[in-house]
Amino acid sequence: MALRLDLAKPSRVPSPAQLNALDKAMIARRRCHQCKTVADYCIPTSDGRCVDCMTAPTWQTAA
Ligand SMILES: [Zn+2]
Repeated sequence: MALRLDLAKPSRVPSPAQLNALDKAMIARRRCHQCKTVADYCIPTSDGRCVDCMTAPTWQTAA
């Protein structure tokens, strides 16, 4: 009878590749579409801009 070591160790640990893909996805979600800055928070997908851009009174609209 073989020892089932595969049953003894945790199997729900994500692989480095999975973590890397997750990290890329999170960075993409946090990148501002306007100033390309990666924020520390998730940027609203409806707007796609960081708070700095959303609250900026004017952006490249020099009238
Ligand atoms: Zn921005």
